[in-house]
Amino acid sequence: MSAASKKLIAGTILAIAVGGLVGWLYSATLLGLLVAALLIIAIYMRKLLLFERALRHGDVESIGYGDGVWQQLYSQFKQERERSNRYRKQARRLVKEVQKSTYAMPDGAVVIDGDNEIVTCNRAAKNLIGLKRKKDRGQKLDNIFRHPQITELLQQNDASQSVDVESPLRDNEWLNCRIVPYGANQKLVLIRDVTDRITLNKVRRDFVANASHELRSPLTVISGYLETLTDDPEVPDELAKPLAQMQVQARRMTSIVKDLLELSRLEGDGQASMDDRVDVAFLVATAVQAFSSVADDGPEILSTIKSDALLLGAESDIDSILHNLLANAVRHTDADGEIEITWRTDENGGELIVRDTGEGIAAEHLVRLTERFFRVDRGRSRGDGGFGLGLAIVKHAIERHGGELHIESEPGEGSEFRCIFPASRLVAA
Ligand code: ADP
Repeated sequence: MSAASKKLIAGTILAIAVGGLVGWLYSATLLGLLVAALLIIAIYMRKLLLFERALRHGDVESIGYGDGVWQQLYSQFKQERERSNRYRKQARRLVKEVQKSTYAMPDGAVVIDGDNEIVTCNRAAKNLIGLKRKKDRGQKLDNIFRHPQITELLQQNDASQSVDVESPLRDNEWLNCRIVPYGANQKLVLIRDVTDRITLNKVRRDFVANASHELRSPLTVISGYLETLTDDPEVPDELAKPLAQMQVQARRMTSIVKDLLELSRLEGDGQASMDDRVDVAFLVATAVQAFSSVADDGPEILSTIKSDALLLGAESDIDSILHNLLANAVRHTDADGEIEITWRTDENGGELIVRDTGEGIAAEHLVRLTERFFRVDRGRSRGDGGFGLGLAIVKHAIERHGGELHIESEPGEGSEFRCIFPASRLVAA
């Protein structure tokens, strides 16, 4: 117990005793005690009421501190108050700094709560998607920034995912949106202007598509004349070999142009329609039959169909996936090897797997396999007729169906190409 507390107790007892003594002198001890106690209570009450009034008026300085316990109480209170004021000022300054920096950010930032209702946003968000900070507070973000992909992104709540969507305010402008969950059930929606990237991609895609398209007609004419000349008995013998070589190269060029056009189409078409049902099991059986009859002396090709589920998407894309993966497997597997195609589905989605026991691919090449014109062994692939476009086509065709391509391979052991499709694209037969 502090000295002041002891002093307060002693003073109180002394005052009551004095009251009792005075009362005893006048033959009214009890009354003396009572009056002394009431007097003390009245003094303490006055001090408390003064303190309460000073608190109410925010005028603690005006309190006469006195001494003893009351002085201790007042000064401790004052210290605590000063400390909390200091903290509050620091916190306010910090909040202002954070607000200023998010306000100055070129990217849009919108804070939303667990129900996707807008809490606050920065200036860039206002410019990019037209939010009004006060007016739109409490509104659902996807009511204002209306786009199916944004709604889906909000549902997924996955910071690793982002989507490119057209600007809701201006034509030909594109925004990239990402959602980062943070704090107690809050999310930060980050919006970035990616018009330059999208435009550049489009220019590149258009250029490749246009160039390939323009090359197609002259190539058809050249191939036609080469065929006529090859069949012409009047053409001198010494021209037979050059003509045959020219024909091979013209066929290669036609094939490259065809693949480039296919790639441009896959890139430009967006997501595959959900209206058509693709019988994957049937396509696998047809492809196995076609490749087995062509590569008669090649590796054995087996199929394992574990599901008759249908895939919602484009049949030509799935056919192209199968064709490219099978062509690669046949090209890179010896005659005594084996190729197996599997189609299986469960509640998590569908998997179309092409596995071979061929030469395999070194780990350092795996990440680059789906790049355009990437070939592991350039010299050899060219001789074999590969251009490094097949897996790029496969990847884009899978992505158009919301899926992913997973590749595993071991040199000398073989390779496995797994095309994974989401459950939302599957229907029962
Ligand atoms: P290409 O037309 O040259 O086959 P792809 O894009 O289809 O082009 O394949 C890229 C490279 O990946 C190929 O050059 C080849 O080296 C390698 N590759 C693809 N599939 C296999 C496979 N099944 N086994 C071994 N290597 C493969």
